[in-house]
Amino acid sequence: MHSLAAHDLSYLVFDRLADQPRLRHGVSLRRQSNSADKALTLDFNFASGDPARLRTNLDGFCRALGLSDVDPIVASQVHGNAVTVIDQPGQTIPPADALCTALPNIPLVLRGADCPLMILYDPGVPALGLAHAGWRGTVQKITIRLIETMIKQFACQPARMIAGIGPAICRHCYQVGPDVIDAVRQNLPDSEKLFSPDLDTNGVPIPEKWQLDLFEANRRQLLHAGLLDSNIEISPWCTFENPEKFYSYRREGPAAGRWALMAALK
Ligand SMILES: [Zn+2]
Repeated sequence: MHSLAAHDLSYLVFDRLADQPRLRHGVSLRRQSNSADKALTLDFNFASGDPARLRTNLDGFCRALGLSDVDPIVASQVHGNAVTVIDQPGQTIPPADALCTALPNIPLVLRGADCPLMILYDPGVPALGLAHAGWRGTVQKITIRLIETMIKQFACQPARMIAGIGPAICRHCYQVGPDVIDAVRQNLPDSEKLFSPDLDTNGVPIPEKWQLDLFEANRRQLLHAGLLDSNIEISPWCTFENPEKFYSYRREGPAAGRWALMAALK
């Protein structure tokens, strides 16, 4: 990934997707150091109770991505595996953690605060899909569900699809308990490779605590669905370790803000 800035707004793009002529996309950054106001932070949280500010931020992000006269569709995320197909502008949608479309000029938006947000793009259609893949979505195979939907709806071909897995909490920072590990073991093949015992400062395993790798769990789902390894880009950024760039639920608790992944076809 690398950073770009436009219209006073800085954001990240995937290297593998930045030069696609029919696609606009970006992951918003928290601290807006390119802004005239160096202390400005950009937050896409619904729950902060200021819909007008959220709207302003969405409009600003659209402008930065070169999208004008558009109406972004923002998912209400519920940690499920439902995929919603967007087939008309301004569509009202049920709660969903994955969205996809083949229509141009409809920005799709997911928001995150540690969970991986993913973008899938088939330049041959073109078609676009986004998924929110926290541990619950991951064990419900939301990535595979999204690809299956895009194949069925838009005749996408996995071998030409390009995927980006965005900034998220890394394995070393993501401590989970037995409930999560049980769900991983029950639902994901080769699950033992996705987690390891969490160790204390003396290198001794902490009872009932593991480190889970959501990046790798979702990379495996992309490969399982038929994507080529060379067409998968994984963000190098850990959200827990980079408070200037990202919000983190683990670090900041329920009051944490949200960054946005926005993407649209041109
Ligand atoms: Zn980390």
